[in-house]
Amino acid sequence: MIHRPPIHLHSRVALHEYYALTDRTRAILIFASTYCADEWGYAVTWTSLYREGDSGVHGFNRGADMSKFVITRDGKRICMPKKHISQLEDVVNKVFPYGKGRYKTAIYHKVVGGAYHFHFQSKI
Ligand SMILES: [Zn+2]
Repeated sequence: MIHRPPIHLHSRVALHEYYALTDRTRAILIFASTYCADEWGYAVTWTSLYREGDSGVHGFNRGADMSKFVITRDGKRICMPKKHISQLEDVVNKVFPYGKGRYKTAIYHKVVGGAYHFHFQSKI
């Protein structure tokens, strides 16, 4: 029997990438998904996990990107309101502290040429 995680992966993300994540990274992903569902009724989408050849955390199964677009309880696709974006960042950083230094577990950002999204990461 195939066990599927109770989360929504974008069609370009393979299921094995989810299982390849480090335990802590997978815990962060599950926490963020569950928090969004419990707090606001949002269904969220994970848009990027493992990236081949990536020298950053995504190349080491320690990064997970989540779209700012969510599905509401009544089936509407919306961009998360700013206050929910900062609340999610804050709670994830509180529950999963990255440790000393300038890095954080949850960052809402955009890379050059890309769109704003949530980036979650963990140490090895
Ligand atoms: Zn990322």
